[in-house]
Amino acid sequence: MGAITLSQVTKRFGETEVIPPLDLEIQDGEFVVFVGPSGCGKSTLLRLIAGLEDVTSGQILIDGADATQAAPAARGLAMVFQSYALYPHMSVKKNIAFPLKMAKMDPAEIEKRVSAAAKSLNLTDYLDRRPGQLSGGQRQRVAIGRAIVREPAAFLFDEPLSNLDAALRVNMRLEISELHQSLATTMIYVTHDQVEAMTMADKIVVLRAGVIEQVGSPLDLYRNPRNKFVAGFIGSPKMNFIGGEAAAEYGAPEIGIRPEHLDASTDGGKWRGVVTVAEHLGSDTFVHMEVEGIGTMNVRVGGEFPVKHGSTVFLTPQEDKLHRFDAQGLSIGGAQ
Ligand code: ADP
Ligand code: MG
Repeated sequence: MGAITLSQVTKRFGETEVIPPLDLEIQDGEFVVFVGPSGCGKSTLLRLIAGLEDVTSGQILIDGADATQAAPAARGLAMVFQSYALYPHMSVKKNIAFPLKMAKMDPAEIEKRVSAAAKSLNLTDYLDRRPGQLSGGQRQRVAIGRAIVREPAAFLFDEPLSNLDAALRVNMRLEISELHQSLATTMIYVTHDQVEAMTMADKIVVLRAGVIEQVGSPLDLYRNPRNKFVAGFIGSPKMNFIGGEAAAEYGAPEIGIRPEHLDASTDGGKWRGVVTVAEHLGSDTFVHMEVEGIGTMNVRVGGEFPVKHGSTVFLTPQEDKLHRFDAQGLSIGGAQ
C-alpha cells in the first residue's frame, strides 16, 4: 500500500513561502516524478512527504490515514538520497541490513530480506565488500537495497543519479524502472532532468516556484502542455517559440513548434533560413538556424542530413503539431 494525498499543503521558511497551497494525489503503485528547475521546491515537497520537514499548514494522508504529524520512521516510507550515505567501514551486507538491525528485527528475517534485495539488485557477489571497493552504480544500488529491505509503502528518491556519469545514469534509470515493475511499490522520484522524468514516470508533476504547473503522463505533457513553461521544459531539444507575423498567420500571439515537427528541405518550404551549426549524430541531425523574419530555430532531422554552416535550408511546420499560446503564455488549443 502506498497511496499518498497532499491536501492544501504549504511550506514557509521564515517569511519565504516555498510551497503555496498544493494538492496532489498519488495512487498506490504509481511511479511519480517531480520535475522542475533547481530551487523550485522538489526536495522540499519530498521532505514534507517523508516527514523530514514539517508542513506549515495542510494535510498529508498515507493510505487514508492522517500522517501530517507522524514521525518519519512511522510513515513507512524509505528515502534514497543523491549522496549514498553508506557507512564506509561496514560491508555491503551490513549496510543493507542496517535499518533492520536498528529495528531489532529477527536475524533470520534480516538474512532473508538482505539476500532477496541483493539478488534483485545484482549485489550477491559483493556482499562482503566495503562501499569503497564498489563502483558508483553499485554504491547507489546498495543505498536502494537498504531501502528495499524495509519493505516500505513508498520509495522516495531525491536526484539519486546525479552523481553518476551519463552512461551509468542510463543503466540505473532502467534498473530503477525494472525494480518498480517487479516491486509494484509507489515510487516518488525527484529530478531536474526532464529526460529522466519522461523515461521513468507513470505520472509527471511539473513544478515551478512551488506551484504545480501540470500533472500528466509523459505523452500528455508532450502533446498537450498547458502553458509555455511546460511546453519549453518537456521535450529535448526544446520547443521553438515564435511570435510576430509568423505566429499571427496561425491566429495566435505566439506559436510553439518542436524541432522534430519541422520538415527540413534544401529545395523549398515555408520559411527560409541559414544553418549556423549542424550537429551530425548519424541517427539524427540537429540543425541550428537563423530563419528570415523569425530568428533562431532548432530543427531535428531523422538520420543524416548533409548540410553545414552557411547552407540554406527551408522549413515547413507540421501544422497539426503546432502549439498556440495566448499573450499570458497559456495554451489555446495546441496539438490534438
Ligand atoms: P529543489 O529541490 O527543487 O532544487 P528545494 O526544495 O531544495 O528546491 O528548495 C526550494 C526553495 O526553498 C529554494 O529557494 C531554497 O533556497 C529554499 N529552501 C530550501 N530549504 C530551506 C531551508 N532549510 N531554509 C530556508 N530556505 C530553504
Ligand atoms: Mg533538490
